[in-house]
Amino acid sequence: MDFSRSSEVELKYKQTRDFASAELNGDVIERDSNSVFPIELWKRCAEHGVLSWFMPEAYGGGGHSALTTSYLLEALGHGCCDNGLTFALGAQLWSVQKSILQFGTTDQIERYLPGFMKGTIKGAFAITENGSGSDAFALTTTAQRDGDSYVLNGEKCMITLAPVADVAIIFAVTNPDAGQWGLSSFLVDTRTKGLRQSDNIPKMGLRTVPFGNITLNNCRVPVTCLLGSEGSASSIFNYSQSWERSLVLAPQLGAMQRLIDQSITFSKQRMRSGQSIGKFQSISHRIANMRIRLETSRLLLYKTAWLLDTGKQSVTEAAIAKTHISEAFVATCSDAIAIHGGSGYLTETEVERQSRDALGATIYGGTVDIQRNIISGMLGV
Ligand SMILES: Cc1cc2nc3c(=O)[nH]c(=O)nc-3n(C[C@H](O)[C@H](O)[C@H](O)COP(=O)(O)OP(=O)(O)OC[C@H]3O[C@@H](n4cnc5c(N)ncnc54)[C@H](O)[C@@H]3O)c2cc1C
Repeated sequence: MDFSRSSEVELKYKQTRDFASAELNGDVIERDSNSVFPIELWKRCAEHGVLSWFMPEAYGGGGHSALTTSYLLEALGHGCCDNGLTFALGAQLWSVQKSILQFGTTDQIERYLPGFMKGTIKGAFAITENGSGSDAFALTTTAQRDGDSYVLNGEKCMITLAPVADVAIIFAVTNPDAGQWGLSSFLVDTRTKGLRQSDNIPKMGLRTVPFGNITLNNCRVPVTCLLGSEGSASSIFNYSQSWERSLVLAPQLGAMQRLIDQSITFSKQRMRSGQSIGKFQSISHRIANMRIRLETSRLLLYKTAWLLDTGKQSVTEAAIAKTHISEAFVATCSDAIAIHGGSGYLTETEVERQSRDALGATIYGGTVDIQRNIISGMLGV
């Protein structure tokens, strides 16, 4: 494995971190408390290249590898304190754009990718339903073939970007007798008659990304909306999850670095009992643990990115990376709050928000329990 980087990529890291810290943070406390989606900043990120770095040059993208793209997303998270924004960009990139690129027809790719890359349209990946979640394929949303159309009925819930998405990948049952091979996925324009997007549903953290339900009531779409072939949705889901699980947490590496930097500065300045608190082992060891977690998280993420780039199997590694990085981020946020004492509990210090955001990562893309099921299952347990 080779994780070395060119000086050009290192320069791009610095430019991205500086862009993010100068342009994306502004009113982040208000955005979070009022659950406001910063649409203009989404567009700024697209202009900076965030949604194109990984896309092929043939479609106007940057043609970067998953490894380089992850490193640049880490830079974004290093500079940007808005984890909702960085999470949503990653979710669209890895689950929506990558799926369309891999399974879409030329027409579907040309129709959607340019808009995603420019930030003029947004996409949602909608599989979860009230009765599925961890049982990802226990879907009740149906898509019934009728001539040259499918008619979709059902409801998707807890979908990232659902209230503002222009297009959604909808998973539905096309053949109830075929188990997971009876599932299909559809690229549905959200203005289609019979599709309703809920308002934003308030949540604990990641509040700057809107999240909600998509209801389908006799929503008729042409057969050309099928993504992949009929019955292929479980393969599309497994493929997209291997990318999302592996790489969606890249910005959290940058966020962990930010929390370490902030905690070091605070521990040097804060005086107690006549010395800086950093001199207490309780504080310095917390910072050391934060650094250990960041190092192990980085290595796991870079390794899964490298496996994806080289086309090697990465099911176990993706599940390990998702579990370890999400739990490392939660623990790092707890340590940062402890180091900051009472001020870490205050909204204005911005550490408590990171902690609320961090817990989301242990749930989306499959909970850490499900990841452990995958890891133990791959071991034959
Ligand atoms: C911030 C956020 C963003 C999301 N974005 C999207 C999105 O864009 N698209 C989308 O489709 N979904 C999305 N989701 C939904 C997410 O994928 C589900 O919440 C997740 O898969 C868990 O499903 P559930 O909520 O139904 O929990 P449940 O499946 O009901 O699980 C409840 C608890 O039981 C445990 N559990 C369940 N089954 C097992 C088992 N077999 N073994 C061990 N433990 C088990 C779980 O780990 C959990 O602790 C998002 C969720 C969040 C929080």
